[in-house]
Amino acid sequence: MRKLKRLLLRLLLFTLLILVVIVAFKTLTFNSKQIETEPYQAALVPEDVVSHLQSAIKIPTISNSNQTDSSAFNNFNTFLESTFPLVDSILDHKIINDFSHVYFWKGKDETLDPILLIAHLDVVPVEKESRKAWKQAPYSGDLVDGFIWGRGALDDKLNVVGILESAELLLEQQYLPTRSIYFAFGHDEEIGGKNGAVAIANYFSKQNIHFSYVLDEGSVIVEDALKGLETPAALIGISEKGYVSLDLKVKLEEGGHSSMPPSVTAIGTLGGAIANLEADPFPAKIEGPVGTMLDFLGPEMSFPYNCIFANRWLFGGILESQLSASTASNAMIRTTTAPTILSAGIKDNVLPSEARGTINFRIIPGDTPESVMERVKSVIDNENVIVSFTDKDFAQAPGKLAPTDGFGFNVLSTTIKELFPETTVAPSLVIAATDARHYESCSDAIYRFMPVQLKKEDLSMIHGINEKIGLSSYHKLIQFYIRLIQNSTR
Ligand SMILES: [Zn+2]
Repeated sequence: MRKLKRLLLRLLLFTLLILVVIVAFKTLTFNSKQIETEPYQAALVPEDVVSHLQSAIKIPTISNSNQTDSSAFNNFNTFLESTFPLVDSILDHKIINDFSHVYFWKGKDETLDPILLIAHLDVVPVEKESRKAWKQAPYSGDLVDGFIWGRGALDDKLNVVGILESAELLLEQQYLPTRSIYFAFGHDEEIGGKNGAVAIANYFSKQNIHFSYVLDEGSVIVEDALKGLETPAALIGISEKGYVSLDLKVKLEEGGHSSMPPSVTAIGTLGGAIANLEADPFPAKIEGPVGTMLDFLGPEMSFPYNCIFANRWLFGGILESQLSASTASNAMIRTTTAPTILSAGIKDNVLPSEARGTINFRIIPGDTPESVMERVKSVIDNENVIVSFTDKDFAQAPGKLAPTDGFGFNVLSTTIKELFPETTVAPSLVIAATDARHYESCSDAIYRFMPVQLKKEDLSMIHGINEKIGLSSYHKLIQFYIRLIQNSTR
């Protein structure tokens, strides 16, 4: 008996030793994927770039789902023409559906695939209730405390104006790109992009234009991205989550008087169905773009985080519960469930026979709108609850994955490292929707990245209150685009 015990103990120790060896080996061979670059001196940016962005913010190009204020969008057309005289005279300029813009900068070598930089010029409205919380008026473009304030300062006028600013400066120096460059600015991204990005992408497809890479807004450089990572993380979105909303409808035979309620009511049944969905979230998946992100960030992290990231086969559970704990990282590892609309009942003493709810899902790669529908039905498991697509046309599968090697990714990483040498570059998954998804037929390498460094809490300014950009951040954004164009088209 004692012998057996000793044997078992030895076996246990041996297994433990093997485990330690594997974990140590995986940690030690978890090599850095960061690109080395030479020190780079960024281009000088003139003073008047600030007033240009201020003017752009002052034009309220608001996307409302019901109506478009065409005078604001017309004013934006005029603003673009008058602010960038060289771009306007040297580049080919086409207006699509009245308010979207495509610029073409012809390169010397037409055998090379062009690049495409995109952004959108519309902004979301400001909620009446939140106006008071703005320290500067949301369409003022005011320059206060070293920041330019207002809607579009981060999403996404700074990219529209910043890209054109970089082109204007390069044209001033008579820069001639080898590879052709396109800029495309949609005017309805915030309401789906149908008349903007979709129409522009069709325009490109009709001409059989294939881009070596496409760059849109999406991820940023985040400070304190993860515990154990001391450097800011420059996250390049290589895909974006999909989108689907489902309607739940409960229709019962009985409505009637609330003095004699039946044991099963429409509102109670619907509430139960939604509670079941929340209690049984979609499973977490640390793979695909998020897995690749951890492969890039992990080697730059301190112990024991690098060890955990290198040995996800062993520590996957710990990692999953850590990532599930914050809403932002939770959204990266699973398809999320968000009940957004409820309606039932007309009077406090009348039992409604019908109750409806809408649930919005953001879909990770691997799931589809159809697979979401299947799972929702099986979790609810109640024939009284009828599940249907809210708007099938609006449903969107997750974006296809862009490569993390090759020309586009390398040129982006290099430019990031040159302008932001202290960052760690990593691929990532964008959890919101962007115009980029509409360009999938035009390129296999679609990236989503905005060259701005933000703190985690700053991200709430996007679509939120006190949206603003620091002067030095904005200068750096222009310097980034100048260098990106140079690196891509030398
Ligand atoms: Zn945006």
